[in-house]
Amino acid sequence: EAGVGSGAAVQAGTYQDGSGAASEVAELRAAILDKLTYFIGKHAENASDRDWFVATALAVRDRIVDRWTETRDLIWAKHTKRVYYLSLEFLIGRLLFDALNNLQLTDPVRVALSELGVDLDRLREVEPDAALGNGGLGRLAACFMDSMATLSIAAHGYGIRYDHGLFRQRIKDGWQLEYPEDWLSFGNPWEFPRPEIDYSIGFGGHVEAMARPDGTFRHVWHPGETIEAVAYDTPVPGWRGRHVNTLRLWSARAPDPLRLDAFNRGDHVGALTAQVRAEAISKILYPSDATPAGQELRLRQEYFFVSASMQDLIDRHLRQHDAIETLPERVAIQLNDTHPAIAIAEMMRLLVDIHHIEWEAAWTITTGVFSYTNHTLLPEALETWAVPLMERMLPRHMQIIYMINALHLDRLRKSGEVTDEMVRALSLIDEHSGRRVRMGHLAFVGSHKINGVSALHTDLMRVTVFRDLNGAYPGRIVNKTNGITFRRWLYQANPGLTRLIQEACGADVVDRTADLKALEKVADDRAFQRRVAAVRRANKIHLGRIIAEQLGVKVDPDALFDVQIKRIHEYKRQLLNILETIAVYEEIRSQPTRDWIPRVKIFAGKAAASYHQAKLIIKLANDVAKVVNSDPTVRGLLKVAFLPNYNVSLAEAIIPAADVSEQISTAGMEASGTGNMKFALNGALTIGTLDGANVEIREHVGPENIFIFGLTAEEVEARRRRGIDATTVIAASPRLPEILDAMASGVFSPDEPGRYRGLVDSLRFHDYFMVTADFDSYYARQRDIYRLWRDKEAWWKASLLNTARMGWFSSDRAITEYAQEIWRVPLQPIG
Ligand code: PLP
Repeated sequence: EAGVGSGAAVQAGTYQDGSGAASEVAELRAAILDKLTYFIGKHAENASDRDWFVATALAVRDRIVDRWTETRDLIWAKHTKRVYYLSLEFLIGRLLFDALNNLQLTDPVRVALSELGVDLDRLREVEPDAALGNGGLGRLAACFMDSMATLSIAAHGYGIRYDHGLFRQRIKDGWQLEYPEDWLSFGNPWEFPRPEIDYSIGFGGHVEAMARPDGTFRHVWHPGETIEAVAYDTPVPGWRGRHVNTLRLWSARAPDPLRLDAFNRGDHVGALTAQVRAEAISKILYPSDATPAGQELRLRQEYFFVSASMQDLIDRHLRQHDAIETLPERVAIQLNDTHPAIAIAEMMRLLVDIHHIEWEAAWTITTGVFSYTNHTLLPEALETWAVPLMERMLPRHMQIIYMINALHLDRLRKSGEVTDEMVRALSLIDEHSGRRVRMGHLAFVGSHKINGVSALHTDLMRVTVFRDLNGAYPGRIVNKTNGITFRRWLYQANPGLTRLIQEACGADVVDRTADLKALEKVADDRAFQRRVAAVRRANKIHLGRIIAEQLGVKVDPDALFDVQIKRIHEYKRQLLNILETIAVYEEIRSQPTRDWIPRVKIFAGKAAASYHQAKLIIKLANDVAKVVNSDPTVRGLLKVAFLPNYNVSLAEAIIPAADVSEQISTAGMEASGTGNMKFALNGALTIGTLDGANVEIREHVGPENIFIFGLTAEEVEARRRRGIDATTVIAASPRLPEILDAMASGVFSPDEPGRYRGLVDSLRFHDYFMVTADFDSYYARQRDIYRLWRDKEAWWKASLLNTARMGWFSSDRAITEYAQEIWRVPLQPIG
C-alpha cells in the first residue's frame, strides 16, 4: 500500500485526482517498456526488480524533465530572484514515491506495472536509500527542497555527491558495526551528470601581492593544488509537478586522470596518487553528528563544494545580468549550519580578487546575499578551524578573514564602550587554546539574518553563544521553527490515515494543511476513531513484520508501541528510556499476574563511530532486549526491539505505527527536532521535555494532549551550576537505586558483569545530562500514558487532536517565512 489515493481507489478504477484515463496507463506502460528495452537492454521476461525499478524511474523522470525545462525557461524569462541552499548534507532517502506522489502518478503507474506483472511496492524496496546526511539537519534540507519546489521558489540546493553516504549499521552481539554504504553501486536513475559543468578548486600555495599604480594592492592566489568539481543534477519536483527545482551535487576529479609518465615507468599505483587524493574529497560523508569532524579532509570538503557553488552561481548571475553589483537583488544564499560558512570568505575573494570590486562594496554585496541557520548550541559542536591549518590550506581566505575581523572589531570599538573581554568574545578568532577561526562568528558577521530553528533555541542563542554578537548587531537573530514535508511524512508514509483525513476534511486538505483543523470535529466520533485505530493497527502489523524479519522477535499489534528513533546521543537520553524499561521489567517480574498493559519498546539509531558512550548505550539496549524478550515470567507483556540501520525508509515504516513518541532530550540541548513533528502529525502521543520544538508542539496540540515532564532549560542550567553529582538524587528516588544496582552488577551482562559499571558511575557522579534528575517525573508521566491507553476513547481523541493541530509544522510554512522575512523572494502558495 502506498501513496495518496492508492489501494482501494485503484481497485475501483478511479483515481483520486480525477485523471483516471486508461490512455495515461497505456502511455506509462509503453514508456516503461521502452526504457526497459532501449536503456537497460532487456526483455520483460528476464528483467529483475531492479531493472523494472530503473525503467520506471526513467519513465517518470521524463515527465519531470518536461516541467523542469519549462520552470527553467520561466525563471530566466522573468528574472526571478533565486535562492541557493548550501548544505553539506541532504538526507533525501528514496525518491520514487516522492516523484510519483508529487506528479499524481502513483495510481496509474501502479496499474501500468501490474498489467506488466510487476508489483510497485516491491520496486519501492529495491531503490537504495540516499543517506547523504547524518540526521535532522540533512533531513531538514531535503524537506526544504520539497517545499521550495512546491511553493514555486526558484531554488537550487548545493551539496556534495558522496560516493558513500552514512555508514550502514549492523548489530552483532548487540554491538554496532559500521560498514560502507554504496547507494551508487547500481547507478542512479534520478541524476544527470553534467561533465561540461566543472570548476577548478584551489588549495594551498601562496598569495602574491601586486602593487597597483595608485599604491593599493591586488592579491593573486597561486594554489599549490587544483581539483575539479563536476556537477550532477537531480530534478526536485514540487507538489502536483507545477515547478521543478535542481539539487546540484558536486563530485571531485583530478585534473589529470593519470600520470602517464609514472605509469609508463611501471609505477601503476603512483600514477594514480593525485587522482586518489582528489577523489577522496567526495568519497564519503563524515559520520559525525553534533560534533565537528576535526579532520583536514572535512575542511577540504567544505571549501570544495562552497567554491564550486559560488563560482557557479556568479556565472549564472553574469550570464543573465551584466552587473555583479546586482547580486543581492537577484540572489539569496542560505547557509545550513556553519559547514558552508567559508562561503563568506570565498565570495569576498571572488568579488575583490577576481571581479575587482572595492572591499566595502564587496562586503555590502556579501552581507546582502548571505543568511545563516544555526543548528546547535552544544559547545563541542561549534565548528572552529586551527589558524595554521587555514593558513596552509586556504592562505588567501585566512587573509580575508583577518580583514573581516579587523573591520568588524574596529566598527564595534568606534560604536561605543567595548571591554577587552568583549573583544575576545566578539572576535572571529578564538585565542583560548591555540588560535582557531570561529565559523559561527564568521557566518554571523557575514550574514544579514541569523536564525535559530525553534523559539526556545532562538531565545537561547541570544543569551548564550551569540550573546555579545547579538548585542553588537541587534535584530539580526530571528526564529524560523523547523518544519517537515507532509507529502512524504503523511501522504506517502501513511496513506491509510491520509484517506481518512481526506474523508473528514475534504480531498483538498492535501493542498491546504490549515484544513486539517476540521479533524477536530470528528475527534470524539467513536466510529471514526475505530477506523483510525484500524489503520494504526495495520501499520503496526507491517512494522511487526519488519521486526520479526530483522530480529526474530514477535510483537503483538495490540500492544502499545513506544518508539524512540534518532541518532544515539547522550543528550537525546536513550538511557533514560532504557532505565524506565528496566523499571517496568522489574515490576512485571515482581508481580507477574497484575493486568499489565502489553508494551513494545522500539529503538533505532546510529552512533558516530568514534562515540564510545553512545555505542555502549546501543549495546545496553540490546542486552536489555535479550534478557527481557527471553524471560518467561514477562510472557511477552514487555518486548524490546532495537532495529538496525536507522534511515529515512525505516523512519517511514516506523512513524505511522507508533503510539508513543519519545522526545526526551535534556532541556536546552535539542535545537528543534523534526522527528517529534512527524510522530505527532501521524497521531502518536508525545512524551517529552520542554526542549526544542516540543515547546511549540505543546502550544499547538494543547497541554492536555502531550505528556511533558522534567526540568526546564533554566532548571538544568541552575542544577549544573550547583554540581552534577547525583548521589542524593538517586538515594531519594524510589526506583533508581535498584535499577542502577542491577545494571552495575551485571544482571543484563552476565557474560561481562562489569560492562555497565562505568556507565552507572557516570550517572552517579557526573550526570551532566540529568538522566537521574528527570527519571522520577519521566516514570510518573509514563504511568499517565498507561492510564490514558486504557481509556481508548480518550486516547484516540488525543491522537486525532494531535494530527488536527499539527498543520503549522509543515515545511511549507517554514519556507514561506524564510522567503518573506529572510530571502525576500516571490512564492506561489498552493491550495
Ligand atoms: N534521521 C532520520 C533518518 C530521520 O528520518 C529523522 C527525522 O525524521 C532524523 C534523523 C531526525 O530525528 P530527530 O529530530 O528525532 O533527531
